[in-house]
Amino acid sequence: MKRICVFCGSNPGANPQYVQTAKALGRVMAEKSLGLVYGGASVGMMGEIADAVLQAKGEVIGVIPKFLVDKEVSHKHLTDLRVVNSMHERKMLMADLADGFIALPGGLGTIEEFFEVVTWAQLGMHGKPCGLLNVAGYFRMLVEFLEHAVQERLIRAEHRSMILMDENPGALLEKFDSYQPPVVEKWMDRKP
Ligand code: AMP
Repeated sequence: MKRICVFCGSNPGANPQYVQTAKALGRVMAEKSLGLVYGGASVGMMGEIADAVLQAKGEVIGVIPKFLVDKEVSHKHLTDLRVVNSMHERKMLMADLADGFIALPGGLGTIEEFFEVVTWAQLGMHGKPCGLLNVAGYFRMLVEFLEHAVQERLIRAEHRSMILMDENPGALLEKFDSYQPPVVEKWMDRKP
């Protein structure tokens, strides 16, 4: 793996552990010579992780749509800032540039971006690892919901297990190293 795409809040969140862990993830990635791909903003947790990787002399590529350059205050000191035309282009380019995906605590944008890459994995469009960094139990209820969806036969257990999780950045990246994507069809109970 050369680069990891990190999705995270454009806000810092209420719990100081969110920003602390964003910074810790940035440092661990730089130690492991893993470049960061992210949304290119200087605000919230997004700005914090970018700064942490840059301070540790790591590579940071930001991908931001034109209309957000001012709103999310694009980061001015990245290794590379790619300005694209739409949110769709942003997600596609971030996915192409990265060898794995991590979501830190975040809001609707973070959740949307993470689940889109998971759905691409489910359809076999890529076999890259996807993981939740469960800082202070932030994703606990989301994981409960996923278990519920498996019980209700709307998500395959194999597809639910594609979503790796840990509360520690280094431990999550170790899970990425040994990840093998499942080889199953998406559809269950399909009539012949
Ligand atoms: P949030 O988690 O809502 O603070 O947003 C985190 C990042 O996700 C921000 O850079 C948002 O611009 C971005 N974002 C929000 N919605 C989308 C979307 N539909 N596609 C791509 N990025 C998005």
